[in-house]
Amino acid sequence: MASPTAAQAWKLLRDLAFRPPLLAARSQAVQLTPRRWLNLQEYQSKKLMSDNGVKVQRFFVADTANDALEAAKRLNAKEIVLKAQILAGGRGKGVFSSGLKGGVHLTKDPKVVGQLAKQMIGYNLATKQTPKEGVKVNKVMVAEALDISRETYLAILMDRSCNGPVLVGSPQGGVDIEEVAASNPELIFKEQIDIIEGIKESQAQRMAENLGFLGPLKNQAADQIKKLYNLFLKIDATQVEVNPFGETPEGQVVCFDAKINFDDNAEFRQKDIFAMDDKSENEPIENEAARYDLKYIGLDGNIACFVNGAGLAMATCDIIFLNGGKPANFLDLGGGVKESQVYQAFKLLTADPKVEAILVNIFGGIVNCAIIANGITKACRELELKVPLVVRLEGTNVHEAQNILTNSGLPITSAVDLEDAAKKAVASVAKK
Ligand code: GDP
Ligand code: MN
Repeated sequence: MASPTAAQAWKLLRDLAFRPPLLAARSQAVQLTPRRWLNLQEYQSKKLMSDNGVKVQRFFVADTANDALEAAKRLNAKEIVLKAQILAGGRGKGVFSSGLKGGVHLTKDPKVVGQLAKQMIGYNLATKQTPKEGVKVNKVMVAEALDISRETYLAILMDRSCNGPVLVGSPQGGVDIEEVAASNPELIFKEQIDIIEGIKESQAQRMAENLGFLGPLKNQAADQIKKLYNLFLKIDATQVEVNPFGETPEGQVVCFDAKINFDDNAEFRQKDIFAMDDKSENEPIENEAARYDLKYIGLDGNIACFVNGAGLAMATCDIIFLNGGKPANFLDLGGGVKESQVYQAFKLLTADPKVEAILVNIFGGIVNCAIIANGITKACRELELKVPLVVRLEGTNVHEAQNILTNSGLPITSAVDLEDAAKKAVASVAKK
């Protein structure tokens, strides 16, 4: 990332994508998928929680059906819950590519755990929150099932509009919280927390009460809420979401599910946590981009945007939208560009089947436009570019760059400014 402003802008882009929908009026224009922030699997989040005094069920993790069976036997529990581990929520109502319905299963028989795990591991699980084809399941969690008498919702998030952490809760948990927020907004409770003062006892108690915990359960829930908040701070989380935050008939408050997101600016002081990131659910294209020091964010349109700097990325995105198009992604070159990076960038962009046109929008401040132009022509020739390419270059050495493009004999459309570039890119897609 070239400058602090660019870093902030990327963060803003990601904020748009990652702020829980409950609180965020999602931007019409930018619909990003949650990828660039570290997400941990449920079992990893629950380990952090139990290490910090938060109540979760006993569990094992398995990556083969046989290990799942063994784990189920070892648990020696009255009932077992088997849960597919993917980063997306809504697993309970998901469907596997094996045909199995439900990413969360309860059974009393360890043998059934083995049979079910066989239909989970290695298959894709599609839920409301995954792409259509689903996400491959590599691991399952085998946990002691507990009876649930009531399911509530609890989350702690870093919220821009509150300038800090906020507790969000609802007595109507378990279900899709966005639906509750839409149909019964009065059932969503919030407590803004002063990050310097920390969570107040009265706030934890009030939330526990709003969630409907009665008698001794109220203190227990408040205690869990405080512990969750302290964990949130300690691990530099941006979000801790527990749904259901449940109650058992035996009078226990238990976190039945867990989703934690982390602030990746804190990576330097959260090394152990970031080491847990297995990247297996990242888009391969993202990992590939990172290898060449390129930043990639996938979107759902068809115009690839090849830019330098996050501010320009956002402007490019906006102007494409304004002209009736949709960006397929951003690929940010950053500051110190090499010709080989430009080549790799094109290789990545053209490998994406969604991409029907490429818009290059580079401002040569530190970057030398001639280097970009050479990279572009080389890439076009070697990759035999099949999609329309619109190029807008401005800044250092722009005339030399334009000569390189014009003299290349390649079908490259030049644009004089941002607006012109966006119009031409949108038109090139519309023609098809
Ligand atoms: P999600 O669908 O991805 O959010 O996965 P959850 O972990 O939230 O599980 C889905 C649902 O399964 C929960 O809302 C519960 O109703 C149910 N569930 C999960 N664990 C248990 C358990 O230990 N006991 C019981 N009785 N139900 C459970
Ligand atoms: Mn859940």
